[in-house]
Amino acid sequence: MTDLELYERAKAAAERAYAPYSNFLVGAALLGRDGRVWEGVNVENASYSLGVCAERAAIARAVSEAGRRPGDFEAIAITASPCGGCRQWLVEFGLERVVYADNHGRIVTHTPDDLLPDTFVL
Ligand SMILES: [Zn+2]
Repeated sequence: MTDLELYERAKAAAERAYAPYSNFLVGAALLGRDGRVWEGVNVENASYSLGVCAERAAIARAVSEAGRRPGDFEAIAITASPCGGCRQWLVEFGLERVVYADNHGRIVTHTPDDLLPDTFVL
């Protein structure tokens, strides 16, 4: 699967997002090393801070449904720039590539380390 195909999966998933407060629909598609893809969407809540971002939803699915762990993933595509908290997740789960639409609508690819240098490690 190409990065562009993965991005198209994320874009299609975004239509299922639950974002009644912001109307900002975000989708993510997470590519495992075995070729499996997990999709996620943002899920908002009236208590704003309890919302879940699309990329974290996708990673949580892969962990909960298939027991995946850091290093099991190749790439993730997201229809928006990942927030700071999600960048920490992307580093922890060892993604090789993060493909997303930047704030100008361009599809860009970065490594998690590029997106979050000098990462917190426990
Ligand atoms: Zn986020």
